[in-house]
Amino acid sequence: MKYNFEFEHVLFGLNRSLFQCIIKTLKYEKISIEIMKVVIVGNNVAGTFSANNISLLRKDVEIEIFTQESYSYYTRVKLPELIHGEIQANDLIVFKDDWYKDKNIKLNLNSKVTKIDPDQKNLFIAGKEDPVSYDKLILALGSVPNIPPIKNAREMVGKGVFTLRTIDDALEIKEFIRKSKAEKAIIIGGGLLGLELANQIKKANLDTTVIEFFPRLLPRQLDDECSLMLKEEIEKKGIKVVVSATTEEIISNGAVTGIKLKDGQMFKSDIILIQAGIRATIDLAQNSGLETNRGIIVNKFLETSKKDIFAVGDCVEYKNQTWGIIPACMEQSKIVAASVLGLKKIEYKGTTPKNTLKIVGMELTSIGIFDPSKEVGGGWDILKKADKKDCCYQKLVLKDNKLKGAILFGDTQAMSFVYKKIEQDVTKKELMEILELYLYKCSNCGAEYDETKMELLFENLPEDWRCPKCKHLKEGFEKI
Ligand SMILES: Cc1cc2nc3c(=O)[nH]c(=O)nc-3n(C[C@H](O)[C@H](O)[C@H](O)COP(=O)(O)OP(=O)(O)OC[C@H]3O[C@@H](n4cnc5c(N)ncnc54)[C@H](O)[C@@H]3O)c2cc1C
Repeated sequence: MKYNFEFEHVLFGLNRSLFQCIIKTLKYEKISIEIMKVVIVGNNVAGTFSANNISLLRKDVEIEIFTQESYSYYTRVKLPELIHGEIQANDLIVFKDDWYKDKNIKLNLNSKVTKIDPDQKNLFIAGKEDPVSYDKLILALGSVPNIPPIKNAREMVGKGVFTLRTIDDALEIKEFIRKSKAEKAIIIGGGLLGLELANQIKKANLDTTVIEFFPRLLPRQLDDECSLMLKEEIEKKGIKVVVSATTEEIISNGAVTGIKLKDGQMFKSDIILIQAGIRATIDLAQNSGLETNRGIIVNKFLETSKKDIFAVGDCVEYKNQTWGIIPACMEQSKIVAASVLGLKKIEYKGTTPKNTLKIVGMELTSIGIFDPSKEVGGGWDILKKADKKDCCYQKLVLKDNKLKGAILFGDTQAMSFVYKKIEQDVTKKELMEILELYLYKCSNCGAEYDETKMELLFENLPEDWRCPKCKHLKEGFEKI
């Protein structure tokens, strides 16, 4: 007799222990049960939340996760803090053994998947002979740090040159600094991770320099003006910043001694940390015949080119785009869970980029489109409030009455509004109120002073300022 769980609707209301008791009884009675087996490769945010969402939707699914790392799910967000010793590895673990037991999810650590056979629906684990079978497979393979083509960089990895992606990487960097008594550090890459890392390395008392290829910091998150303000703030922390700098070579005499730039400049350093972007992990998929490009290609249901194989998280490419941020992993993990269970109700539409710099005392968030000059088509509007003295920069970007993006630096009070309203209809008046920007009118000639378009707020204009049209006094203007 063969039961498949078409009668899931009957069991769905039962509590888990009762449900498992029924399963055990059926097994004891040697009644064959068809339970869907979902295998997930990768145990970070995308893999773990896919497993969690599947288990929330259906209890009668066997879920097994394989990861090559030796820790259960931990967050990478605070990895730089591990280097300075502000936290310990254990503090980063989000779900401990109990969570997996509770959810009935089998987690296999130290298990690298080497090959998938999509026809036989099997996968192979390094060091194990027997293949693992699956009904549905989710690839949550993530990404790895990019190492630019710098002479000696790859050769010196682990010997003075490091990247940061895992707990093991952070511990290795910490140990290298301790053992080598490193005094000078260079961080190649002035993006979010590069700056967060530089901040922690500086805290560990190393003379710290950030080398950025582009002419400004955070080129993917900030416009020129805000980037300049950020650079000044970073430098105030004692971190040196060199922009428009192409690193050509890592100099070593067996141990790392510094770097040479393309323009011939040399910088001494005992340790080089490369944070120059990420590359989606595609080799396993590629070697197993799945369609890949920069990432593993998926459709709106996160299905790959092979039947019953799905992909989620940093490793995914959808409509020529890859993400590399947690919000995209979270969104995709909901969709993949539904797709795997055949509930194709929600479609992936892409994720609006959201980034926050995590340096205490330096509030910075960038979301969506922040520089319309690089976009096609018209209808764009910008509301900006900048105060260099107070190191505060707020910029909201609108198109056809929709909030399309924002930069909030120094003052992030508008953050919850922006997160709620992104891609939603908003009025310019609403945004002016949020940024506390006003329109003033000359009581004499009716000329307007619109703070959204001016460099200076009205109150910051000098007292002897006059109406540009009729030369009326500043005090003759009214807020409307
Ligand atoms: C220092 C740091 C700070 C960050 N801060 C933020 C932040 O503040 N906000 C934000 O949105 N994002 C942040 N990110 C990015 C965020 O961590 C990633 O977007 C997220 O981890 C991606 O999750 P994932 O599950 O897709 O992939 P990953 O986290 O890369 O996990 C994939 C896992 O799969 C394993 N794997 C790969 N291939 C195999 C195989 N063949 N067999 C077995 N296992 C395999 C990998 O070892 C890895 O453990 C940060 C990243 C770093 C490194």
